[in-house]
Amino acid sequence: MLWAVLILSLLQNSVLSSIVNSQEALSFQPIASLPVANASKSFWIDTPGANLLGNEGSIGPLTEDADVCIIGAGMTGISATYHLAKAIEKLGLEGSSLEVKAVVLEAREFCSGATGRNGGHLTPYSFFNYREYEEKYGTIEALKSLQIENRTAMAMVSIIQEHQLADVVDLVAGGHLMLISSEEEYASLKEEYLAASRAGLNVGDVEWLPEEDVDRIYGASYSAVKFPAFNFWPLKFVTQLYLLANSSTPHFSLSLHTHTPVTSVTPLSSSRIWSVNTPRGSVKCSHVLHATNGYASHLLPQFGGPSGIIPTRGQIVVMRAATPVNDSWKASWGGLDHYWFPRPVNGSISDHGTEDGKENPVVILGGGRHIGGPAFEQYETDDSVVNTALGEELRAFLPETFPHMFNKGEDAEMEWTGIMGYTSMADPFVGPIVEHLQSGATSGIFTGQYIAAGYSGHGMPRAFSCAEAIANMIIAAIQNKSWSTPEWLPKRYLTKNRSQEKN
Ligand SMILES: Cc1cc2nc3c(=O)[nH]c(=O)nc-3n(C[C@H](O)[C@H](O)[C@H](O)COP(=O)(O)OP(=O)(O)OC[C@H]3O[C@@H](n4cnc5c(N)ncnc54)[C@H](O)[C@@H]3O)c2cc1C
Repeated sequence: MLWAVLILSLLQNSVLSSIVNSQEALSFQPIASLPVANASKSFWIDTPGANLLGNEGSIGPLTEDADVCIIGAGMTGISATYHLAKAIEKLGLEGSSLEVKAVVLEAREFCSGATGRNGGHLTPYSFFNYREYEEKYGTIEALKSLQIENRTAMAMVSIIQEHQLADVVDLVAGGHLMLISSEEEYASLKEEYLAASRAGLNVGDVEWLPEEDVDRIYGASYSAVKFPAFNFWPLKFVTQLYLLANSSTPHFSLSLHTHTPVTSVTPLSSSRIWSVNTPRGSVKCSHVLHATNGYASHLLPQFGGPSGIIPTRGQIVVMRAATPVNDSWKASWGGLDHYWFPRPVNGSISDHGTEDGKENPVVILGGGRHIGGPAFEQYETDDSVVNTALGEELRAFLPETFPHMFNKGEDAEMEWTGIMGYTSMADPFVGPIVEHLQSGATSGIFTGQYIAAGYSGHGMPRAFSCAEAIANMIIAAIQNKSWSTPEWLPKRYLTKNRSQEKN
């Protein structure tokens, strides 16, 4: 299925499963390192003033005791704080002295993992991959696989709207334009779309654009399919989520320690059952969430290797257009093994923006992974360096695709890497930690520890909902209640159901 390789070049089930099970992959170091100290500079993190919580809680005393310890301050970890706060608010505890204490421990700066280094797309995949999901997991699960993406994106957008944060997080609701490389790919996508539609998926907003229209309106010689999607500044969204969680209810207290890597989680024989250990001291906790994405296996070695979470490095460049772009170009784009979007030019000073927004925008561009072969950049946790060959490929892409809008030979204004967490199913692990990933078997020695990680390069439209599932599991456990799977969560994401895997 050629077309699937083109979707953000990141989510591709069948190719991915053959990659991660290959001998080539096995020759790499299966256990992830901790995040490296000197990460490459990303536009999202290193634009002056962008990372309000960058070094929060990095000096002074460490929180010693908490009900919930969250390891990792990315989209997953901070979404979990938000959902914990909301769930506690819903309990209606007025007059009660109950207080749930949560602490977030982050190895580097706030949000300095994949969420602070990604492509900025919030793209629910409409009907893509439908047939493969249906064939492997059945109609209901296939529908849920796509519906959760829409649910997640709309929930995030509704928070942005409710709190009037669209300008703060640079939300652009421009849709996603997927360029189509061949007639064969076009036919395959159409089949996908029709199958999803027959199964009852809402695909009413999908538009098919012939090559003449794409050429005339957008300046590229390809046909395309357009569907609803967004781009934004993920780190700023995560910052706002943290601030909302922190101010939500007096029954939830939240603290954050950046530059505090967790080096181990060990059992305690007290009412707090886990000691979460860092070079600055330990935190005693009852519940621990591993929101560590590609680094998960560092603390949980059973997640190392092909059936676990494979750290995989991705790369982004910032290219400047040679012309202003019209409003219709201000979408998110994908296809041809790349993904990109123009920053709203009046969005921030570093975009050289003007009041009227007429200057040439910068374009955030990623992808190009085909150049490295199937196991490209897998088992790689060093985001301090970039891959030169990939960088060249990325620099060449926009002038080749939009010859009237980008100058050949132009250098990138910024370039960085980040670490994704891939899994053989291209789906995340969500739920209580198990000892045996393939069977979901557990003897209970990890009771109280949870994970939500492994979005396989497609985390923005999934992590926020997966964190909600975990937050509700924790709240249920705090109340001694049982948790049941929400109808919107694909069942195969759950750690205990991993035996459903079909490669
Ligand atoms: C180059 C690139 C481009 C991408 N583009 C897109 C895109 O456009 N759209 C999309 O949907 N997805 C994209 N993704 C994927 C997306 O960014 C991730 O799926 C998502 O950010 C995962 O969020 P997370 O919170 O689970 O992980 P992360 O954001 O990686 O957060 C994990 C955090 O845990 C911390 N950590 C790890 N180990 C420890 C430890 N032992 N102690 C303390 N802290 C620890 C890390 O420092 C990190 O901050 C991209 C990823 C990359 C790298």
